[in-house]
Amino acid sequence: MINTNEILNKYDLRLTKTLGQNFLTDANIIRKIIDAGELSEEDLIIEVGPGIGALTVSLAEKAGKVIAIEIDKKLIPALKETTALFKNIDLIHADALKVDMAQLIRGWHGRVKVISNLPYYVTTPIVMMFLEGDYPIERMVLMVQKEVAQRMVARPKTKDYSALSVGVQAAGIPQIMFNVSPNCFIPKPEVDSTVVRIILTDEYRKKISDYEIFHECVKAAFSQRRKTLINSMGSSLSLNIDKQTIKDILKELNLKEQTRGEELSVDQFISLSNLVTERIN
Ligand code: SAM
Repeated sequence: MINTNEILNKYDLRLTKTLGQNFLTDANIIRKIIDAGELSEEDLIIEVGPGIGALTVSLAEKAGKVIAIEIDKKLIPALKETTALFKNIDLIHADALKVDMAQLIRGWHGRVKVISNLPYYVTTPIVMMFLEGDYPIERMVLMVQKEVAQRMVARPKTKDYSALSVGVQAAGIPQIMFNVSPNCFIPKPEVDSTVVRIILTDEYRKKISDYEIFHECVKAAFSQRRKTLINSMGSSLSLNIDKQTIKDILKELNLKEQTRGEELSVDQFISLSNLVTERIN
């Protein structure tokens, strides 16, 4: 296990809060993340934000290859040192949201898994980038803020059910694995953390006729939670669909005019967005 304090001192590193730099220092948590990944040499692992490599080296011990994408230039020399013994780690200094993910994955014939202790300020865009990108990803094992994990697994008609719940559940099966105390990091984050595993499946995905319209419908439906679908979707500029058409669609789906987004299951969102797609085109 990497000695985090020793590395931070050696390279005189001051951690940047705005980049979500809370480094894992608990070997048991790292082991549990690796277990949730069920790694083998067939696996290519994408790690967003390796930091100084605490999780990276454990991933590399079991996986075929690890691609670790770190945005912060000042961490790279330390990261090079901690990962030096592993020929199967590719370090990429970049913003994970801007790399060509398809290009990184291309040519790998085994499974692809995303395993990361994510920077919390950018969790949703990173998760959605992987889920919406149509990459051949088998699973994601992610450390996220506890509340975000609860939203990912939330069921309809609960307070946590949100656009993120629908987006994640339309792409896979999310499961909360375990909670992680702030004491397991340097520095301690101000929030509790949870490791969530999402097994990707195209069960829902193959039913969606236009993914972009599906996404816009979900976004509009939750943009004003307390509003009915007729009002929230009818006022969405990106959907550009009139309220009467939404009324007709709800009728076709046997849904009441007062229905709100938070009441719809993923299946119902798909049926709704497929009918919107038909009407728009
Ligand atoms: N994996 C390390 C660990 O578990 O100890 C560090 C995790 S820390 C929570 C998040 C890491 O993501 C930091 O190293 C941070 O610099 C990096 N990061 C933040 N934004 C990023 C982005 N857009 N792309 C790639 N890395 C990013």
